[in-house]
Amino acid sequence: MLEGLNHIGIAVESLEEAISALCKGLGMKHVATEDVPDQKVRVAALEGGGPVIELVEQTSSDSPISRFLEKRGPGIHHIAYQVADLEEALRSLKASGVRLIDEVPRPGAFGKRIAFIHPSATGGILIELCDEGEAH
Ligand code: ZN
Repeated sequence: MLEGLNHIGIAVESLEEAISALCKGLGMKHVATEDVPDQKVRVAALEGGGPVIELVEQTSSDSPISRFLEKRGPGIHHIAYQVADLEEALRSLKASGVRLIDEVPRPGAFGKRIAFIHPSATGGILIELCDEGEAH
């Protein structure tokens, strides 16, 4: 079902500061920034070889990232795997009894469709599944 690691999502207090630190410090390349109103976040994509790093900043204090930052501070928030067909993957997981946060795809950054698996089903890791977002 999984077609490889697509990106790693990092919760940050400030996109600007994190982009600057990673690009100036480590030579990563900032390729795009986009608002995701559905999740009340702004996402910046950075490339450094391998999976993209997506820095995630809240645009509202009631975003899903806000509670994470309050509880744990900045850091790795989720890892995202690419799947060929997100609806099919969610159906299959649900049929296997895997607890999902999102039972239907939602709009993510950069034209992707995303859905989260509940961390209680994955040993505490928040895993996002994503696909390219064409209408099926
Ligand atoms: Zn993500």
